[in-house]
Amino acid sequence: MNTQYFIDLENQFGARNYLPLDVVITRGKGIWLWDVEGNKFMDCLSAYSAVNQGHCHPKIMQALVDQAAKLALTSRAFRNEQLGHFYEELCELTHSHMALPMNSGAEAVETMIKAVRKWGYKIKGVPRDKAEIIVCENNFHGRTITLVGFSSEGSYRNGFGPFTPGFKIVPFGDVEALKKSITPNTVGFLVEPIQGEGGVVIPPAGYLKQARELCDRHNIVLMLDEIQTGLGRTGKLLAGEHEGIEADVTVIGKALSGGFYPVSAVLSNREVLGTFTPGDHGSTFGGNPIACAVARQALKVIVEEHMVENAAAMGEYFMGQLKKIESPWIREVRGKGLMIGVELIPEAGGARHYCERLLEKGLLCKETHENVIRFAPPLVIQRDEIDWALERIESVLKER
Ligand SMILES: *Cc1c(COP(=O)(O)O)cnc(C)c1O
Repeated sequence: MNTQYFIDLENQFGARNYLPLDVVITRGKGIWLWDVEGNKFMDCLSAYSAVNQGHCHPKIMQALVDQAAKLALTSRAFRNEQLGHFYEELCELTHSHMALPMNSGAEAVETMIKAVRKWGYKIKGVPRDKAEIIVCENNFHGRTITLVGFSSEGSYRNGFGPFTPGFKIVPFGDVEALKKSITPNTVGFLVEPIQGEGGVVIPPAGYLKQARELCDRHNIVLMLDEIQTGLGRTGKLLAGEHEGIEADVTVIGKALSGGFYPVSAVLSNREVLGTFTPGDHGSTFGGNPIACAVARQALKVIVEEHMVENAAAMGEYFMGQLKKIESPWIREVRGKGLMIGVELIPEAGGARHYCERLLEKGLLCKETHENVIRFAPPLVIQRDEIDWALERIESVLKER
């Protein structure tokens, strides 16, 4: 069976909500992937940062297999022996008081919004149904109706209204705009430390810190979406650490399972998540034994194998070398840790063209927006492997 066979099969029966590169992958190990024709590729996307630990990490795989053989699902109608351990380890690692496990990232964001609204009514005293949440332009928080409803990206929203009210959009990185949009009914401010899907956009230094101060002054919950930036990607466990701040509520997902299983979580102080009482929220699969066992091991290997430190060191090297590439097409190289964006000038002909050329040379990456190529390899990548990637990136960016 060749590549075209699988592409035709997908195209015949599958909804067309993605435009994948035409490579059909069958196997992965560490930073490497193999396609159905036996070609080998370096993965520089890491499933949008869900496989920070590398593909098929043997320890996480073993945790999955062992737990699957023992107990898969109880629902939260009963307790399970994995959940308490997961809570404790997750909260200790991230300095959280409480956690709430969900499945996808979007679900965790939705859950956080519910908790923050409830906090607004119960603790802050906002009049019923008047709670306002401030979000940022160019955000990406997931694909549910509520979340695309406060997106500023037409293609995410168009055709899906009507949307959930109660959200205000302000420019990302602009403290003054944030300040001006605050009212007595503002309960929360939701922000990504670095906008990943938005094109690896880094806010001005001090932005999150000033946002933290504004939230403190006005009794507003600071919510960080660290689904993509979290768990080592930017060279810190959580990207908020770059500015020395802690959010009141943080959502993580993606790499929380090392890519094996959908696991996300809301991490919170006691005041916000503490407002939930039985019946307020739930999920059949959230916090199931397999999810907990997998996530515990996924967190453990990040720490034990020094992946955060490696992301910081390798990210600095990778970005430094990318900046040295002399190409007429590059506008800017930016990033933190191993979350790197190379923005091309519009005349370059679009980032996708370069991703397709890199695919031919054995390197998998994905454009984000029109003109940004994102490089986000698994955090286990080593210097000689980055050199291998750089050779290919440089040759492709010097073409045409
Ligand atoms: C991927 C992502 C989400 C959504 O996660 P899903 O698991 O795809 O629902 C939310 N926020 C950010 C910042 C993301 O990168």
